[in-house]
Amino acid sequence: MSYPVWLAGLGLLFTALERVWPRQQQALLRRGIFSDIAYVVFNSHYLGILLAYATVWIAPIPIQGQWLGQASWTVQFIVALVTMDFLQWAIHNLLHRVSWLWKFHKVHHSIVEMDWIGNWRFHWGEILVYRTLLYIPAALLGARGDVLFWVGVLNTAIGHFAHANLRWHIGWLKYVVNSPEMHIWHHNHPSAGPVNKNFAITLAVWDWLFGTAYVPAEDPSRLGFEGIEEYPGQLPGQWLAPFQRLRRH
Ligand SMILES: [Zn+2]
Ligand SMILES: [Zn+2]
Repeated sequence: MSYPVWLAGLGLLFTALERVWPRQQQALLRRGIFSDIAYVVFNSHYLGILLAYATVWIAPIPIQGQWLGQASWTVQFIVALVTMDFLQWAIHNLLHRVSWLWKFHKVHHSIVEMDWIGNWRFHWGEILVYRTLLYIPAALLGARGDVLFWVGVLNTAIGHFAHANLRWHIGWLKYVVNSPEMHIWHHNHPSAGPVNKNFAITLAVWDWLFGTAYVPAEDPSRLGFEGIEEYPGQLPGQWLAPFQRLRRH
């Protein structure tokens, strides 16, 4: 199955699960839903095409490493998943700790009603940062295309799961993979609890290893950041917001 088919199938699955086991009651057509659907379409498909053109233009010499050489499919999958996920976790840290990067990442943290579709609310500038910093290590790994495809599908499935409006607790698995009970505490408003916790993208292990895990039993009372009241609630204002803030400071 192609990636768009997986994306649509996972979207339908989590929409159904959120109706059956909601963390909190939310309207299906909640505020900003059409803007978030536009993010899904653009960020999952068109942005990739644009960045592929940009990569050819900026880096005409392709890097092709052989670190994974002729390793088996399973070894390639595990090494690619763990390596890329650790790098993504580190980049996510940077997005929170470097002030101009935070201005782009704020778009993702403008979510006030959490559901799986929020997994796609990202500024294109942020995805450009991820791609740029991951380009050389990913190319040097030299994993097979079908291995990277399945790593991508798993990342999407866990991303949808972690953002889903689901009252699910996954027991000891919370130490291994990202989950709704963990990721909701990445999105809490500063008034509702500690910030800069739970940077996990797919694997939760990095936060437990490096002391940034925070998973209390209850949910945060409020999501967002200081000043969210004045922040644009949807596109195109969210695309413009980082540049307006950059100009002002
Ligand atoms: Zn974040
Ligand atoms: Zn998130």
